[in-house]
Amino acid sequence: MRLTRLKNDLIATVSHELKTPLTSMRVLVDTLLENRCAGPAQEREYLRLIAGENQRLTRLIDNFLNFSRMERSRHAFEFAEVKLDEVVRAAAESVRERFSAPHCRLKLDLSPDLPEIIADRDALVTVLLNLLDNAWKYSGEEKEVSIRARAADGEVILSVEDNGIGLSHRQIRRIFEPFYQVDQSLSRRAGGCGLGLSIVRFIVRAHGGQVAAASEPGKGSAFTVRLPVAGPADETGSFTTKTPSHQERQRND
Ligand code: ADP
Repeated sequence: MRLTRLKNDLIATVSHELKTPLTSMRVLVDTLLENRCAGPAQEREYLRLIAGENQRLTRLIDNFLNFSRMERSRHAFEFAEVKLDEVVRAAAESVRERFSAPHCRLKLDLSPDLPEIIADRDALVTVLLNLLDNAWKYSGEEKEVSIRARAADGEVILSVEDNGIGLSHRQIRRIFEPFYQVDQSLSRRAGGCGLGLSIVRFIVRAHGGQVAAASEPGKGSAFTVRLPVAGPADETGSFTTKTPSHQERQRND
C-alpha cells in the first residue's frame, strides 16, 4: 500500500510539474500568435519567459532520466581533462536569458589559476545547472547569485551562493535525499520533483568529491562542491558507480 501511495504521489507531482510550464508556454504562444502584445519589448519578454519555461521542462526531464540511470547503476561517466572555467561559463551561458530579468544578477568569480581537472564535463555542467536552478527558484524578486571557483591543496572548490529564502539545520540534513522537498504542497511556486540535489551529490561523489550546504533561514544559501583535481581514485575512463537501490534504501530505513 505504501508503494502504491508513493507511485500515486509521484504521478500527481510529475503530471503537475509537466503541466505547469506547458500551460504557461501555451498562453504565451497564443498571445504572440494573436498579435496581442503591446510592442516589440513585450514580445521579447514573452519569448524570454517561453525560453525559461522550456529550460525548466528540459531540466526536469533530464533529472528524471539521470535519476533513473543512477538507480539502475547505469550511469557511465566519461572522464577527461576539463577546463573548469569553461564548465562554469557554459552553465552561466545556459541560464543567461533567465537571469537577464530585471532585478536579477549572476556574478562569476573565477580564480585565474584554475587547473584542468579530470572530470566528466557534461556531468559538471549538470551539477552547476541544478544548483543555479535552485538559487533562482528559492529566492525572491531581487536575485543575487554568484558562482565562485578556486583551487586549493589538490582540489577545486566551486560554490553557488544566493540571497534566497535559506534553510534550517534540520532541512540541510535532508535536502540531498531523493524526492525530499521542504515545501511538499502541489501549490508551491517552485517547480521540480526533489531530485536535483540528489543528482548533484551522486555526480560529485562519482568524481571523488563532496558537496555541502551552508545556510540560515532568510539569509540565503551557499552550496560548495569540492572536487579532487586528479579525478576519482579508481578512475578507469568509463566508470559505473553503484548506489543503493530503492529496495536497499527502504530496507536501511
Ligand atoms: P527541487 O526539485 O524540489 O528543487 P532539489 O533536490 O534540487 O529539488 O532540492 C531539494 C529541496 O531543497 C528543495 O525542494 C528546496 O526545499 C531545498 N533547496 C534546494 N536548494 C535551495 C536553495 N538554494 N535555497 C533554499 N532551499 C533550497
